[in-house]
Order: sequence, then structure tokens, then C-alpha cells
Amino acid sequence: MATGTPDLPSAPIDTSRAHPARVYDWLLGGKDNYPVDEAVGRKLPPEAHDAARQNREFMHRAVAWLASQGIDQFLDIGTGIPTEPNLHQVVQRIVPTARVVYTDNDPIVLRHAEALLVSRPEGATDYIQADVRRPEQIVEHARKVLDFSRPVVLSLIALMHFITDEQDAHGIVRELVRVLPPGSHLVLSHASSDLYPELSQQVVDEYAKGGIPLAFRTREEVARFFEGLELVEPGLVTATEWAKSEPAPRSEDCGIYAGVARVP
Ligand code: SAH
Repeated sequence: MATGTPDLPSAPIDTSRAHPARVYDWLLGGKDNYPVDEAVGRKLPPEAHDAARQNREFMHRAVAWLASQGIDQFLDIGTGIPTEPNLHQVVQRIVPTARVVYTDNDPIVLRHAEALLVSRPEGATDYIQADVRRPEQIVEHARKVLDFSRPVVLSLIALMHFITDEQDAHGIVRELVRVLPPGSHLVLSHASSDLYPELSQQVVDEYAKGGIPLAFRTREEVARFFEGLELVEPGLVTATEWAKSEPAPRSEDCGIYAGVARVP
């Protein structure tokens, strides 16, 4: 099933301005983007391609690890345009009965949602078009598919740097985490403003020219998203350092913070 929310009808695709999901798709080498998105992407430093790939690799490792811990319910907000392997493919390889609810606010993701809905028959996937700034709406829908009396993974991967402090980024995450029962986990990655400050500023400026405001954050600001939670090893590190399920961490420059934390 794929649903638009009642008061958020699925808008037509706007090709006159750049959209985050489509710029990211372009960075990953995808085909679901338009010239306006590519124009933003082309002005970004080459490191932006690496960051998109490194972020994706973190997602794969983190959710595979969580599935291997026996967690079988996932709420993924800011899903992005489908890119294989998608989250449900990674986790259902380990736990075929896993249930995944995907959410994004971009109508282009809804347009491509069929690719997210090809679940293993033992499990289930679902897609809702919704905005993370309306967390109560997302949770209300997710409750129809996921059992919130058992652990749920909330994944906010490369999402919260699109939400400014004025929009209360930290309050939104707090509200989402509040509904998770003990044993649940938050998986979050976020572009840094302090690891490579000049590159970060360049990226923020280019997105701004494309009409997309970004809120890259310092390590301390990203750490605040995990307040009250127990970070699992290796803690809040870069996306490439979060190499738990890899034989050896690769030494590669990376400007994305990433962490996984348990709800006590
Ligand atoms: N999580 C995926 C995609 C990251 S790109 C990955 O890490 O690979 C960021 C995604 O967040 C885009 O698809 C964009 O459309 C979505 N997004 C941005 N602002 C949002 C909002 N306010 N509510 C929901 N999704 C949002």
C-alpha cells in the first residue's frame, strides 16, 4: 500500500526548482532527477558524491546490524528515491519477516514507491507521503503497520540537516523517539559543519542558490539528537568509521556524522 495523507495531497512533480531527493539521486548516479537538480549537483565539490555513497554504506551496515540483533520493525523517514539495495532489502535478507514503513515528503518518491513496496511475502513494506515536521501524523500511520509495544528502529538518515533550528529539528526527533518502546533504536546520519568547514560551507551555499536551505551541524549539535539514548559502539563517529560489521574500518575522509543508539 502507498498512501498520501489526507491534508497533504500528492503534489505534481515540480521541475522548475531543485529538490533534495533528486539532487541526492543525481549524486548517487541515479536517473530520477531533472536538469535543475543536476545543475545544483554539478556545482558541488566532488566530495559530495563520496558523502552520498558513504552515507548509503552506513545505512546498509547499521540496519543489517540491527536486523542481526533480531529487530524486525523499521520506520524510515526521509527515504529518498529508491536505490538498490533499499533498506527493506537489506533487512529482509537477514529477517524475511521484517516490516518497514517508509516516509518522504517529496512527491517524486511517492511516484517511485512501487520499488519500495516489493516486500518479501513473509514481511511487509508500506509507504506514506508525509513530512517529518508533522511527526504525530507519521506515527499515527506507522502504528497501523508496526507494533509499538515491541522494539522499532527509527531511521533518520541524511534527513535532519534539511530541518533548521527554527523548525525545531531537535524537538521533532525528541517527539519521535518518545513513542519508541525500550530496546528500540535511533539510526541517524547528518552532514557536519565542523569536520571540513570550507567544503561544508560551499555545499550549503550551492544548495541555497538552488533554493534548498540546509542546516549542517557540529558534532555537539548532532550529539544532542541522541540525548537520553545509549549510543552503541563505535559511538558517534563518521559514516565510514561506523564500520561495525566490516572486517576493518576503511580510512577515508568523510564529512558525515553517524550513530546508532538504544532506547533505554
Ligand atoms: N535516507 C536516504 C535519502 C537521504 S536524502 C539515504 O540516506 O540514502 C534526504 C531525503 O529527505 C530526501 O528524499 C528528501 O525528499 C527527504 N526530506 C527532506 N525534507 C523532508 C521533510 N521535511 N520530511 C520528509 N522528508 C524530507
